[in-house]
Amino acid sequence: MNSRVLLVGCGALGASHAEMLARAGVGTLRIVDRDFVEFTNLQRQTLYKEQDAVDRLPKAVAAKSRIAEINSEITVEEHVADGNNSNIESLIGGCDLVIDGTDNFQVRYLVNDACVKHSVPWIYGAAVSSYGTTMTIIPGETPCLRCVFEEMPDAGSAPTCDTAGVIMPIISSIAAVQVAEAIKFLTGNRDALHRSLMQIDIWQNDWRKIKLAGPNSDCIACGKREFEFLDADSQEFAAVLCGRDAVQIAPPKPTVIDLPGLAKKLSPIGDVRLNEYLLRFSHNGTELTVFTDGRAIIKGTDDISAARSLYAKYVGS
Ligand SMILES: [Zn+2]
Repeated sequence: MNSRVLLVGCGALGASHAEMLARAGVGTLRIVDRDFVEFTNLQRQTLYKEQDAVDRLPKAVAAKSRIAEINSEITVEEHVADGNNSNIESLIGGCDLVIDGTDNFQVRYLVNDACVKHSVPWIYGAAVSSYGTTMTIIPGETPCLRCVFEEMPDAGSAPTCDTAGVIMPIISSIAAVQVAEAIKFLTGNRDALHRSLMQIDIWQNDWRKIKLAGPNSDCIACGKREFEFLDADSQEFAAVLCGRDAVQIAPPKPTVIDLPGLAKKLSPIGDVRLNEYLLRFSHNGTELTVFTDGRAIIKGTDDISAARSLYAKYVGS
């Protein structure tokens, strides 16, 4: 009850983490997620229901309201935002532990930098198709993500939820191992941590553990304490979203968008729907969802430059 855990991402893995940690009674869950609920999420994202997709609720908001029905004694701090190098350290601030529920390596390397820098343990997890991987990182005690995977995989080199899909049972399996590790850590049972790179293929019934030694003193992050992802001058402002046929465009600097004002501007051109958190605009087969923090998710394309020009055209540059 006295613990505070940051959940980075509240999609498939994150929704499972949130539900299990809420039921276990972790006192404060800080949830950061940049996306909203869609019908195609419901095959694997256990916290959400059809009405959330109809209402286009941001996942962090829908998660908070569902968790309040599961355990009213805990607190959920919801952040409808993109975890990036301008906010990740403040999001981690005050947390005992971070759990990875993101769908991309860019954010994982950033979380690794921030957690190593501030000595906050984090639990890496990833799943695609029927297989997944997890590892628990205790800075200074275990290898960090960059000790094991020195460089980020090249874009396009690995299968994604987009190209391979994902089935719910591998999400549940990886999330179960991550949350068990979280409970061990939060209750002071470090001896029980699995201390390995764990890989599971639920279709092939293959479970394996690669034992890990201590941190690598040559590691750029935890050995040399150079935080390339955290200290990068510029961040990537556009990202293709896993499994979505969509691109996210973020504004180059922090901003607040007047959504009713934008709705007024766009309504003569196409169909505009507005709720408290976001605006959805459809026109000529294009669908833009704009959040109050200036981010937009552009659906129907995985072409970043096409998405950028749509953003400039309808939201502003
Ligand atoms: Zn390291």
